[in-house]
Amino acid sequence: MRKHIVAGNWKMNNDLAQTETLISELKHQIKTSNAEVMIAPTATNLWQAYQTLKDNTVIEVIAQNMHFAENGAYTGEISASMLKSIGVNTVILGHSERREYFNETDDILAKKVDAALANNMRVIFCFGELLEDRKAGNEETVVGNQIKNALFHLKAWDFKNIVLAYEPVWAIGTGETASPEQAQDMHAFIRKTIADQYGYEIANDVSILYGGSVKPGNAKEIFSKPDVDGGLIGGASLNAEDFFAIVNAF
Ligand code: PEP
Repeated sequence: MRKHIVAGNWKMNNDLAQTETLISELKHQIKTSNAEVMIAPTATNLWQAYQTLKDNTVIEVIAQNMHFAENGAYTGEISASMLKSIGVNTVILGHSERREYFNETDDILAKKVDAALANNMRVIFCFGELLEDRKAGNEETVVGNQIKNALFHLKAWDFKNIVLAYEPVWAIGTGETASPEQAQDMHAFIRKTIADQYGYEIANDVSILYGGSVKPGNAKEIFSKPDVDGGLIGGASLNAEDFFAIVNAF
């Protein structure tokens, strides 16, 4: 079902003590919300974060990444069933940093999506164009291909566990944000891309988040656009007050 979602991607930030501090600040600030609220601490702190929030009905603890294999000789990796076993039911896949620094291709991401869905996990699937793609006017082609290559082997019903996150790479961590109009145009294109393959009933049900330098000062305007269902927040999710203000933009 299409929902408003605000998810904080903490990336490789916050040790255990810092994780506990930030969670207790968030618990204090975010008592209710008109959006689903998620935080993605680093893997070593997921268990503690889950334990601290398991009776909290507002904030869900999610993972930043996982491997596609169920288990085996993949040193340093974690699997979907490992995440499930500590209470984590949602995973971010395809973040541009994973694509750029860890060579995650569309093929690898398709396998990861399959593994997550096979374990009844929800996926926040990220994609977005580079600055050079946008300058060349190729942003829709790039985004359309990222979606098709990693997701179009899925069955229509799989989309109940898929959340899409459009994150133009040029806007991530740069302080540069897509304008609300640029975000809306791309989100409408993304919804149409899903509709062309699966029909509007499915497409209208999918939540499409925007990510890229969302801050308290711009969240409301971006979230007001009809095809923007929420945000994936990096830097601003590391500050409880800023994250709270973004959640409150709904
Ligand atoms: C992100 O990394 O997903 C992100 C959107 O980062 P930032 O908000 O810092 O641009």
